[in-house]
Amino acid sequence: MKRREFITRSIGVTAAMTLPFSAKADTSVKHWDREYDLVIVGSGFAGLSAAYSANKAGLKNILVIEKMMAWGGASAICGGIACMPNTPLQKKHGIEDSPELLVKDMLKVGHKFNHLALAETMATQAYTAYDMMIECGVEFKDKLLRLGSHSAPRGHIPVGASGGAIVVPMHKYLLKKGVQFQNRTNVSSILRDKDNGISGVEVQTDFEHTSGEFRNEFSYKSRHGVVIATGGWGSDKQFIKTTMPSYADLRSTAQSGATAGMIKSLLSIGSLPVMLDMYQLGPWGSPDERPAGPGAFFADYAFAEGIAVDPMTGKRFSNELASRRDRSEAQMVVMEQGTKDKPNYPFTFCSEETTTRAEGFHAAYRDGAVFKTNSIAELAEFHGVKNVTALTQSIADWNKIVKGAVDPYNKPLDVRTELKAPFYSFRLSPVLHYCMGGVAITPNAEVIDATTCEPIKGLFAAGEISGGVHGMDRLGGCSSVDGLVFGQIAGRTAANYKANA
Ligand SMILES: Cc1cc2nc3c(=O)[nH]c(=O)nc-3n(C[C@H](O)[C@H](O)[C@H](O)COP(=O)(O)OP(=O)(O)OC[C@H]3O[C@@H](n4cnc5c(N)ncnc54)[C@H](O)[C@@H]3O)c2cc1C
Repeated sequence: MKRREFITRSIGVTAAMTLPFSAKADTSVKHWDREYDLVIVGSGFAGLSAAYSANKAGLKNILVIEKMMAWGGASAICGGIACMPNTPLQKKHGIEDSPELLVKDMLKVGHKFNHLALAETMATQAYTAYDMMIECGVEFKDKLLRLGSHSAPRGHIPVGASGGAIVVPMHKYLLKKGVQFQNRTNVSSILRDKDNGISGVEVQTDFEHTSGEFRNEFSYKSRHGVVIATGGWGSDKQFIKTTMPSYADLRSTAQSGATAGMIKSLLSIGSLPVMLDMYQLGPWGSPDERPAGPGAFFADYAFAEGIAVDPMTGKRFSNELASRRDRSEAQMVVMEQGTKDKPNYPFTFCSEETTTRAEGFHAAYRDGAVFKTNSIAELAEFHGVKNVTALTQSIADWNKIVKGAVDPYNKPLDVRTELKAPFYSFRLSPVLHYCMGGVAITPNAEVIDATTCEPIKGLFAAGEISGGVHGMDRLGGCSSVDGLVFGQIAGRTAANYKANA
């Protein structure tokens, strides 16, 4: 492709951003540098799952494009917890669960902003995520975790307790099946055929993410439309500041490649946006480690088996397993009791017994994010709790709840562990964690056109780049399942679509 032609097209896209959606960018293309059965953009859970199902559906010449040097995006660095109902592992542990119960939990946490058909699709097809992972060689620990606001322990933890333990076997499986992967390749535009359907992408190869420099520009044709699986934009400070100014200064768990380029491209060709100003906060962030460091994993256990306390009062201030939004908001209120320079950081803590089963504990303790104190007085002093009597009472109250007393916060208890010294504590400070919004999709993973409210021909999206599945807030361990389910749906829908160009 000629450089001049490329520049002209880029200007077209930029200009369209300032126009109403009805004035879509003209991204039609006359010349293709390479041709594929299916181009998938993004190599995380959603992109890999799309490649898996497209391959199963018989497509041969599949390309997965990744702009970064490293594969897997957020999926590779995440905790890898996948909350799926009715799996063989749940049955083995005698846990009663159902897709209906998961949907109920999703709607409660999502404040019914969820697109119901999408939530139901995710929950009822979660078994396909499980089956696919097992087929690709993913192994799970022989236990299940109950994350905040889930009605049952349904968090499957891959051996290795990381998303890499899902991404790597899937990547290897797909390589064996002949799926092609190309990294350091940025998709800069989505291209249309003469009938206005999506038939390819424009790419920048040898792409250097930090500088934005690249060596060549090409147009790749995709005979079965294009699957967009480019994840969220949690590292894009400018886009976050524009869409949600009050979150602009929050630290983010996102990897540096999580920028807003693709959501802008999708908007520029007329995709319908959903809740772009909605972000999820992670209530397990801490000022003492990087966002979502190992202590975040530990905190989930401390929240479940211990309590969280406001240093100003020495008392609990929320259900430690409430939704991420509710917990984060409660923590922010506590922090605001201090000053901007010295916030009143709340802290969660647990007994030594809990640390023996808590993932992330050893690394977080070694790195100084988890603190050991040998008595209530020491715990109080460490966190600046003036009212030691109140803290002592909070611990005594909790120990009564463990023995059967009513919890005023109504926290579900799967494991009953008394709080006793030595205590292991972790300071809390919410971090920006997930983009709730994205483009609107149908249950078949077709991207919806903002002007017609109908699917855009040949354009499919899955994973964090899509919006609506989770509504206003997301249950933990459900983004992996979202990408793993809708990625497969996108791959299958694409396999059944034939572009015109
Ligand atoms: C630290 C952390 C821990 C988490 N823990 C969990 C957990 O335990 N359970 C859970 O369910 N969720 C978890 N999440 C959320 C979850 O990991 C993500 O929402 C999910 O992995 C997103 O998957 P995806 O396939 O949509 O996108 P990603 O995995 O982010 O993949 C998208 C890829 O697309 C690439 N890309 C973007 N734009 C372009 C472009 N223009 N051209 C080419 N490539 C592009 C990106 O570089 C990226 O590699 C966690 C997130 C983080 C950050």
